[in-house]
Amino acid sequence: MQLPFIEPYKIKMVESIKRSTLEERKHWIKEAHYNLFNLTSDQVMIDLLTDSGTGAMSDKQWAEIMLGDESYAGSSSFVKLKDRVTNLTGFPYFIPTHQGRAAENVLFSALVKANDLVPGNSHFDTTKGHIEFRKATAVDCTIDEAFDTSVYHPFKGNVDIKKLEEVLRSNPIEKIPLVILTVTCNTAGGQPVSMQNIREVAAVCKRYKVPLYFDSARFAENAYFIKTREDGFANQSIKEIVKEMFSYGDGMTMSAKKDGIVNMGGFIALRDTEVYQKCVTFNIMYEGFITYGGMSGRDMGALSQGLDEATEFDFLESRIQQVHYLGQRLVEFGVPVQQPFGGHAIYLDANKFVPNISPEEFRAQSLAIELYITAGIRGVEVGTILADRDPITRNNRYPKLELVRLAIPRRTYSLSHMEYVAVALKNIYETRHEAKRGYSIKWEAPIMRHFTVQLEKLV
Ligand SMILES: *Cc1c(COP(=O)(O)O)cnc(C)c1O
Repeated sequence: MQLPFIEPYKIKMVESIKRSTLEERKHWIKEAHYNLFNLTSDQVMIDLLTDSGTGAMSDKQWAEIMLGDESYAGSSSFVKLKDRVTNLTGFPYFIPTHQGRAAENVLFSALVKANDLVPGNSHFDTTKGHIEFRKATAVDCTIDEAFDTSVYHPFKGNVDIKKLEEVLRSNPIEKIPLVILTVTCNTAGGQPVSMQNIREVAAVCKRYKVPLYFDSARFAENAYFIKTREDGFANQSIKEIVKEMFSYGDGMTMSAKKDGIVNMGGFIALRDTEVYQKCVTFNIMYEGFITYGGMSGRDMGALSQGLDEATEFDFLESRIQQVHYLGQRLVEFGVPVQQPFGGHAIYLDANKFVPNISPEEFRAQSLAIELYITAGIRGVEVGTILADRDPITRNNRYPKLELVRLAIPRRTYSLSHMEYVAVALKNIYETRHEAKRGYSIKWEAPIMRHFTVQLEKLV
């Protein structure tokens, strides 16, 4: 018999989970205006809201906390982190920021202006937010297969090269300051981009002289998928694959809260001196001096260690195997999920799960609320509420996919927690025909409404 896979770590410290009753949760979610972001953490039993900043640091990362150098300028923690990033990515310039969206804010302040177009593969919501805030437009060039949950494609995050070329050919090139490639692609379901596709995108960008940047929050998970799914990479290390991926780009923005395995942090890494100089000015204005940019020294040390651990195969395999275990159990129960499974999350297909609830009444949000009430599990809607309104017509944008994302924090939950989630969903799926009405919006913010939206239950 083949030995089962095990997590390549053991537990040194534990954190209690507060259990609750169905009646308590019904009351709490109503008080929270049916917005899962408004719940307090002790009202949640298994928190799959996000894998961002929710991972468990290792003993070596905690040791780095004690070694942190808090000098304002030129701290050794900064040098340690800069060397790590340059070694991993090959980019010579490095600017720390307090998180990923801050990196976007600084980079886009330097590059993006009104009426610009920024092509990419299903831009992440903060990325899109920063583009639209500057009155520019994010153009989605993801392959069509990404939007059909029943189709198997090993790299659903890929860019459709024809769509990308069409944007570059039919617009004045000075209106396209950069192309953004998100690895892995969060909005399309944590789906990876193949090395072949990265090479093709880079070649098109080069031909049109448009710089290529990576939105690299989950670059290590992307490298894992290249190693395990793409021909020719099985014998390469994750670090070698990462180096090649970034060799095709002009720079990257990073949310270190994902594959940095820290609770807070981010950075920009760059090749071009002029872009670096522009970014430095904005970084000093928005984030802090260039050798800390919104992070304390101890956090930079922990991030340096985290980047090393996150690019080790054993860690990535156990992380992704855990996510896939949950996905596999759901498939066994007949629950409709996005396939192939993403790296960091399982996505429930709400269009298939609760077809009786009309899209105008927010199917995916309705399912996410039901999962919370039933079992105290907090997922997040990736559907109409997240897609927000069209900036010009102000009409709701109805995306092709209505998903509930169950993001798995790194090194935080066990397989029995995954089993609990799977069984809770099986039970909801068996009674899905009883769900007929959803929710209406009582109040919403003008941009990125999903964080603060208030809803009313329809009966
Ligand atoms: C999380 C994330 C961001 C934004 O990073 P924050 O650290 O949350 O500000 C940007 N892009 C992608 C793909 C992400 O997953």
